[in-house]
Amino acid sequence: MKAIKVREFGGPEVMKLEDTADVVAGEGQVVVRVHAAGVNPVDTYIRTGTYAVKPNLPYTPGLDAAGVVESAGTGVTHVKPGDRVYIAGSISGSYAEKTLCNSGQVHPLPDNVSFAQGACVFVPYGTAYRGLFQRGGAKAGETVLIHGASGGVGTAGVQLARAAGLTVIGTGGTERGRALVKAQGAHHVVDHGDPDYLRQIMDLTEGRGVDMVLEMLANVNLAKDLTLLARGGRVVVVGNRGTIEINPRETMGRDACIMGMVLLNTPAAELASIHAGLYAGLENGSLRPVVGQEIPLAEAARAHIAVMEPGAYGKIVLIP
Ligand code: NAP
Repeated sequence: MKAIKVREFGGPEVMKLEDTADVVAGEGQVVVRVHAAGVNPVDTYIRTGTYAVKPNLPYTPGLDAAGVVESAGTGVTHVKPGDRVYIAGSISGSYAEKTLCNSGQVHPLPDNVSFAQGACVFVPYGTAYRGLFQRGGAKAGETVLIHGASGGVGTAGVQLARAAGLTVIGTGGTERGRALVKAQGAHHVVDHGDPDYLRQIMDLTEGRGVDMVLEMLANVNLAKDLTLLARGGRVVVVGNRGTIEINPRETMGRDACIMGMVLLNTPAAELASIHAGLYAGLENGSLRPVVGQEIPLAEAARAHIAVMEPGAYGKIVLIP
């Protein structure tokens, strides 16, 4: 089988397509033939070798994929060969023609969801779901600012929050991205590059502020986010690429709360709840992953450059 291999940490060019030994399912394991693999910003951080997660070399990148079960080891009962599935992490990496998973990492994919869309489920939707509901405690009737709504987590967050009865304000940095955010169900869309956009958000909430912020770039926005919060407001830090100075006083009169999250910290029971919620939303059509770009697996390096560029538009997936 062919797989992307990283033999040394570094830039996108360290990813090379190689012939490797076929993966084989042992007890409690599943081999999935990958039809599409999702590209996430975290894949690029890991590839540099400077991230908290540092795999042993050589390794195959990728947490997300969708495809068909090729084989299942003894003790696997919830899926069988031929089933359409998406994966939530794997043992051997998803940037490959086949990936070896523990059975708990393999989840049924509803028939109405394409493989390319299935490759956008776990990290983006799982993160948005956990950030909104499990960490942020989002409730119907509240107003949420999805700060960075044009990318993978953002489009997922807009769809999830809209379906759950929140008023959704989304931001995007390009006209194309903002049109996408609107099409996903945001009630209001603003440009996070517009010097006036904080006032626009306050105007949209009639001066009250938002109940929650799902934040994709906290090192740029956290100090501003605090000034946008209504009383009892919460900021959930999803994305961050540096440091920032904030004024803690902004949290005081608002009884506000700043919370961080990393999807991979999610306890098993809450993760099971996330997958159940995502399956239901995918099946009933309220969740519709946006595939912005399909790139051949051999060009994974190009995908890693693209995912870090401004002008996000849904998700980038690799096609083996
Ligand atoms: P993505 O698809 O590349 O999207 C990035 C988003 O950030 C786009 O909407 C982009 O908008 C927006 N953005 C750019 N500049 C911004 C600014 N100044 N203010 C607000 N938003 C801005 O990435 P993603 O997959 O959605 O992930 C988003 C972030 O969350 C990444 O940093 C990722 O590493 C992190 N993440 C964390 C977890 C976790 O477990 N904590 C899980 C998944 C992702 P434009 O391009 O339109 O400007």
